[in-house]
Amino acid sequence: MRKNIVAGNWKMNLNYSEAKQLMLKLLEYKKNNKTNCEVWIAPPSLYLTTAKDTFDNGEIGVFSQDISEFRSGAYTGETSVEMISSIGINGSLVSHSERRQFHGETDSQANVKIKNLLDKNLTPIYCNGENLEQRKSGKYLDVVKNQTETALFNLSADEIQKVVIAYEPVWAIGTGETASADQAQEVHAFIRNLIAEKYEKEVADEISILYGGSVKPDNAKEIFSKPDVDGGLIGGAALKIEDFSKIIEGFN
Ligand code: PGA
Repeated sequence: MRKNIVAGNWKMNLNYSEAKQLMLKLLEYKKNNKTNCEVWIAPPSLYLTTAKDTFDNGEIGVFSQDISEFRSGAYTGETSVEMISSIGINGSLVSHSERRQFHGETDSQANVKIKNLLDKNLTPIYCNGENLEQRKSGKYLDVVKNQTETALFNLSADEIQKVVIAYEPVWAIGTGETASADQAQEVHAFIRNLIAEKYEKEVADEISILYGGSVKPDNAKEIFSKPDVDGGLIGGAALKIEDFSKIIEGFN
């Protein structure tokens, strides 16, 4: 179901005690403030059980940053969907651009991971977006179309409505460079329209599409005000409670 979401992707940052401190600050913030969006975090997998225990009343959604496309067995270093399901967390990011860049992940693999998650009733946050060259060439909508079709379009209407999409232009991630609110809206509306054409408008309208790429306290409100932007996937600014809480308040 479509909802407003602010999700923090902690990436490979924070040692255990720093991570625990940030979780406790988030819990306190959430208890003392009414938020107009869901708040989710994706800490490193080593800290997922701690996050689950800290937010044991579901105050904050807990997500893995990745899962394996394999279900179980001799896959050293991988984390399966069964494992994250068995600790009771909410889902996982899939195909973040850093997984694509450093591990060569493809949209076909994303499709398998998304199906694994849906099979276990967990929420996939499917990330896509063009790189700088593709943006400059003017072909960025084609890129996003291909990504979206490969990763999602063999799902049923019922399944695709359970996926959260995060549009994250690679040129805006961790660079301090942000897509303008209008640039984000253009691609979000394009993705929603693609889904409406393939499925139904009612299906497309049920899907939350988040924007990611240098969302900060001073630009969150404007980006979130756009009709097809349902929230953000936040990297660097999710690591400090002061910044992350101001971004959450972009929905106030
Ligand atoms: P950033 O990262 O906010 O640091 O640009 C966003 C992301 O990669 O999800």
